[in-house]
Amino acid sequence: MTQILYSKPIVDSELGELKDAIKTLKNAPKLKVILIGNNPSSKIYVKRKKEFCESIGAICEIIQKNDDFQPLELESLLCNINKDDEINGCLVQLPLPPQFDGFNFQELISPLKDVDGFHKDNIFSIYKKSSGDFLLPCTPLGIIKLLQHYNINVSGKNITIIGRSLIVGKPLSMMLTNLDATVTLCHSRTRDLANFTKAADIIISAVGSPNFLTCDYFKDDKSQVLIDVGISSLKQNKITGDIDFNGVKNQVASITPVPGGVGPMTILSLAKNLVKSAYIQENLKKA
Ligand code: NAP
Repeated sequence: MTQILYSKPIVDSELGELKDAIKTLKNAPKLKVILIGNNPSSKIYVKRKKEFCESIGAICEIIQKNDDFQPLELESLLCNINKDDEINGCLVQLPLPPQFDGFNFQELISPLKDVDGFHKDNIFSIYKKSSGDFLLPCTPLGIIKLLQHYNINVSGKNITIIGRSLIVGKPLSMMLTNLDATVTLCHSRTRDLANFTKAADIIISAVGSPNFLTCDYFKDDKSQVLIDVGISSLKQNKITGDIDFNGVKNQVASITPVPGGVGPMTILSLAKNLVKSAYIQENLKKA
């Protein structure tokens, strides 16, 4: 039988640990989320992040700005957040309006408060395989946690990732390489994508195209593991992934559902990063 890789048992089991960790801190961790514009999906994601943070006893404040908010205004806001000792974590919800194209806000958030793990110091820690007080990108962290929970060992495995974004594909490829996987990173210019998906033990798709990967992309020997990162909005507030779940599920060993797979793991990782950032900052104050 195909194993469905639900995130719920993982999230449920981590909730208690996060609540206990927060109780040992002097103050509840505080997160600021900056939401610019009126993207309906962004509003839903931000609401979920806030609800999850509050469910573990952290504080999450959403700063809503209009579509015409300017890069220099964001810079000044982030500067104030960096200086505020009571704020442990900060993120800017993506996507941003066009005036932010090419604006590198990631470097303006202190790496110690960078709960999304996008700051170059945090990213570079992956390349150097440094351990310690770094905050790593949430979706890759969540995917690795999900694989570990279901005892899917990546060492020595061939893993094909589709999508080379800065938030998913690129950092994930390096994090899995650090775990001794052999990683192939595919993108829109990859020729004969099916050759790479069929050759892999684990396939991770982060494209954002609904039902893009059909049964023709996979072996039919029930050996492969499929991780679907994609989220595409359908009518009636429904979402779907990159993989034709019903069409392929009987030919693979394991598959993540959408919703209920990678998405909640990303929010869990965000909450863990927030708690970690609060610990780092508390220890720095003591030192
Ligand atoms: P993105 O920046 O939108 O990039 C998409 C990637 O897909 C690009 O690298 C692109 O290649 C590649 N691509 C597009 N068409 C392709 C094709 N026909 N064949 C192969 N590759 C193709 O990516 P993202 O921000 O990582 O988001 C991807 C999806 O994941 C979206 O649906 C997003 O909503 C979702 N997401 C989900 C979570 C979660 O927690 N579940 C988190 C983050 C993102 P090029 O580089 O050549 O353009």
